Amino acid sequence: MISVEEALEKILSYIEVLEPEKKPILDCLGRVLAGDIYSTIDIPPLDNSAMDGYAVQAEDTCDASMSSPKKLIVVGELAAGSMPTENIVPGAVIRIMTGAPLPKGANAVVQFEDTDEVARKASLGLSVDGCQLKEIGILRQAERGLNIRRRGEDVAKGALILESGTILRSAEIGVLASLGHSEAKVTRRPVVSVLATGDELVDINQPLPLGKIHNSNTYTIAAEILRYGGIPKILGIGRDSIQSLNDKIDEGLDTDMLITSGGVSLGDYDVVKDVLAKRGEIAFWTVCMKPGKPLAFGLVRSGEKKVPHLGLPGNPVSSMVTFEQFARPAILKMLGKKNLAKPSVQAVIGGDIINTDGRRIYARVMVTKRNDQYYARLTGHQGSGILTSMVKANGLAIIPEDTEGVKVGDIVQVQMLDW
Ligand code: AMP
Ligand code: MG
Repeated sequence: MISVEEALEKILSYIEVLEPEKKPILDCLGRVLAGDIYSTIDIPPLDNSAMDGYAVQAEDTCDASMSSPKKLIVVGELAAGSMPTENIVPGAVIRIMTGAPLPKGANAVVQFEDTDEVARKASLGLSVDGCQLKEIGILRQAERGLNIRRRGEDVAKGALILESGTILRSAEIGVLASLGHSEAKVTRRPVVSVLATGDELVDINQPLPLGKIHNSNTYTIAAEILRYGGIPKILGIGRDSIQSLNDKIDEGLDTDMLITSGGVSLGDYDVVKDVLAKRGEIAFWTVCMKPGKPLAFGLVRSGEKKVPHLGLPGNPVSSMVTFEQFARPAILKMLGKKNLAKPSVQAVIGGDIINTDGRRIYARVMVTKRNDQYYARLTGHQGSGILTSMVKANGLAIIPEDTEGVKVGDIVQVQMLDW
């Protein structure tokens, strides 16, 4: 048996970051940028106003106050998007809207609230909107540079704005848009084929004869692949025969990874491992963990191509838990992500867990937070066939392999499934 860390390290050593592709920026959310982005423009493109108000020469507002306003002549108005045609000379101002380029000669903007515009319009019976005034009173002294946004203060032309390897969140998508990029180069999403195995399985749109069960693993695994950024290719159900599995595996060899569920234990009909032993390289079979001890990893050959194959156990909980530990990081690595760790917290465990056979236990728990402390309550029956126990869980409490277990009140590390 090898440890979880050794298994993961081995798996990742066979997994490569995929090549880049160009995608519309909205399809790039959560993806990894493949290439540095330099700006070819200044943002903002010109010095402009940060406020609705009056563009002034600061010197003209010297000693202005509520009780002694400085009266200045209004020579024009500027909206965002239009270019100034007039310069400001001493004694003159231009009414200016947020984002409008600063006229030549101006060195400050006085916001409306620091002028007598409203009172003046009211006394003249004018509407509040528009620039009907010929004169304005400034009620406060303005420093040079007041309410001015400088050209290139956000993004300077020629600067490195986003580094290769950056995960594109909404902020980065916005920055790409502000630079005028409609597309970005990102690492391609892996296509992962999903094959369920077992003579007892019936697909979800088929009648369920007595003794058979629905194939649920395909759908949990496909949903997990989607969740972590991959594209599932569903191969359906392979039967427990060499012929059936070979045929199905052939259908999955045009993808970046093959995930099977079931058929990797020691039972008579567990033929996945036999098929793979013949046509691939098997990296290992058992991992020191519970649930999930029977696990296969290897490469399946298809001509020159070698497709990584992860053989998850068939029990629905085991397949989910092992997916989290091994398939998730593999997908993230293919996507170009660097941080492959699942977020975890330290929590007070709400029940005893006995470790009988020295494997690392992943116990299903519901984590809640009270008074800055996390508490992890066991979700009940921990059988690896009880898929509804995963529905009740938001975390996996990790009981190390080298301990005899934990007692109520002990602190445990919990992997947060939803984070
Ligand atoms: P196996 O690893 O093939 O021995 O399967 C272990 C257990 O998981 C058996 O009880 C199977 O019926 C169950 N199982 C295997 N594959 C699936 C599947 N795709 N969906 C639901 N249960 C499964
Ligand atoms: Mg089986």
